[in-house]
Amino acid sequence: MSDRHEQFAGKNAALGRIWGMDKPKDKTTAGGGGHSGPSQPKLGKCEKCGQEKLLRSFRSQTHDRTEGAASYGVSYQQLCEECKPAPKVSKDAPAPTDKAIRAMLRGARKGR
Ligand SMILES: [Zn+2]
Repeated sequence: MSDRHEQFAGKNAALGRIWGMDKPKDKTTAGGGGHSGPSQPKLGKCEKCGQEKLLRSFRSQTHDRTEGAASYGVSYQQLCEECKPAPKVSKDAPAPTDKAIRAMLRGARKGR
């Protein structure tokens, strides 16, 4: 049934739009590419508490704005589970709820 296939493709496109909107903004300005977030844990000395534990590397970004030009400094910290920074709660782009996705899908279908 070609009709069903078309509907499926439309749904995929709508979902792609939703996920596209959910992307963090700094990813596009930083040039993209690269895996962000905690990596695989490995044994080492925690930079915060100094104990030998399973560590994850956390990327911390510093922004400096001087004379209109923004410079980004990225540093990696090896931290244990206890010292890891609290997960960032995104205020700008909350994860779309099931209801929101369905509403968006409905809107996308109507607009076709
Ligand atoms: Zn620690």
